[in-house]
Amino acid sequence: MFEHVDAYAGDPILSLNEAFQKDPRAGKINLSIGIYFDNDGRIPMLPSVRAAELAVVEAAGPRPYLPMEGAANFRSAVQALLFGADHPAVQAGRIATIQGVGSSGGLKVGADLLKRYFPDSKVYLSDPTWDNHRAVFEGSGHTCETYPYYDPATGGVRFDALLQSFKALPARSVVLMHACCHNPTGVDLTQDQWRALVPVIRERQLLPFLDLAYQGYGDGIEEDAFAPRLLADEGLSFLIANSFSKSMSLYGERCGGLSIVCPDADQAARVLGQMKFMIRRNYSNPPMHGGQIVAKVLTDPKLRALWEAEVAEMRERIQSMRHQLHDVLVAKLPGRNFDYFLTQRGMFSYTGLSPEQAERLKTEFGVYILRSGRMCVAGLNTRNVEATAEAMAAVLAG
Ligand code: PMP
Repeated sequence: MFEHVDAYAGDPILSLNEAFQKDPRAGKINLSIGIYFDNDGRIPMLPSVRAAELAVVEAAGPRPYLPMEGAANFRSAVQALLFGADHPAVQAGRIATIQGVGSSGGLKVGADLLKRYFPDSKVYLSDPTWDNHRAVFEGSGHTCETYPYYDPATGGVRFDALLQSFKALPARSVVLMHACCHNPTGVDLTQDQWRALVPVIRERQLLPFLDLAYQGYGDGIEEDAFAPRLLADEGLSFLIANSFSKSMSLYGERCGGLSIVCPDADQAARVLGQMKFMIRRNYSNPPMHGGQIVAKVLTDPKLRALWEAEVAEMRERIQSMRHQLHDVLVAKLPGRNFDYFLTQRGMFSYTGLSPEQAERLKTEFGVYILRSGRMCVAGLNTRNVEATAEAMAAVLAG
């Protein structure tokens, strides 16, 4: 019956992670998958999240289905986190928010909704982007193209080229943009660049779809919400998928959301209705447990303050790893510039290593980064950072 079913090639990131698990070498270093590890190499259980979970379990009652759109307390906490509780768009009820199955689920619900209501729009992804973006949007029937983003020559953004490309897009094109901590490059737009995009988005009638998977890992929880707040302040319509996988270290609980900022409350109500329809025919309604933990952390003032401090600690630890990596590389290869490790934001760095060099790093030194040269800086710690930098220096030296 299933003779014609092809073997799944596997997801490149998850496959590399599996290869790492099977590697028998004692000194192996995993910098492949996008997960934050603490200095002991463990996925942290944040005390704020633990306390919230205990409170949720303590208060647990019967488990009815959640509504299709998710729990009301989760949804309003997400709006407050992304836009600020007092933001006029929140107050006016013109944001439609659902609790997704992770932000991947939010992206999928958004992709389905856009396919139905913007059937002729193409989706434009940054070059490069997280591989799954293309998979999700193509899976919903979209045609995906790219816009210029990363400049390997400067290690920065090709902003002029990006702007020119946006100016040439057909009206109602969907532009998928990383709100902060760009995956895979770690290179973000500056606030001024976001501001410069606003008139182009307005005049060309583009539809931004923001992806905020690393809130708090860039410059801070509030600071990293700059882009959605700017677009909302400017009265633009857009979508934003957001995640708690990294910011609350809740990967397996699949907590995230999708918010669609609309011109008025009437449109938002209809958009929410259609988001519910997309959910109903897809997975019916989201799970309860993780979302209740998130809502508790976000709305309990003590837990919220604790969480903000924990996120700051994770962010600062990554920064200090960036500095240590940079310093060893500069010492080993004095003629080269490694400043990009310091200016990049979030969990990831584009190292500039070629696929062959990434392969050498793995086979000769047991250091796992993606073939694209993407390294998860959050996998570094005080015990492996030097070995990593030395291995990279050896590979870069040729
Ligand atoms: N967007 C980006 C850019 C990501 O890197 C990730 C996770 N790797 C996601 C979305 C999905 O996150 P979630 O766990 O919330 O589905």
